[in-house]
Amino acid sequence: MEIERFPLKVCPFCGEQAELMYDEADHREYTYVVCSGCGIMTQRFYACVEECAMQQAADTWNKRYETSN
Ligand SMILES: [Zn+2]
Repeated sequence: MEIERFPLKVCPFCGEQAELMYDEADHREYTYVVCSGCGIMTQRFYACVEECAMQQAADTWNKRYETSN
């Protein structure tokens, strides 16, 4: 997977690096962004199209950063 193409801002709450995660539940793949410091995360984005879901997760994370800053 090429996740480096989705740059993530640092956590707006603790300043640590955020990571784009990829997992599976009930045979459905999903992706989300989680902070490696405090553990706050975005909602899950189910991957009908993998890249699309990753972009959504990254965008959601980055938007949260902007609105809470
Ligand atoms: Zn954090």
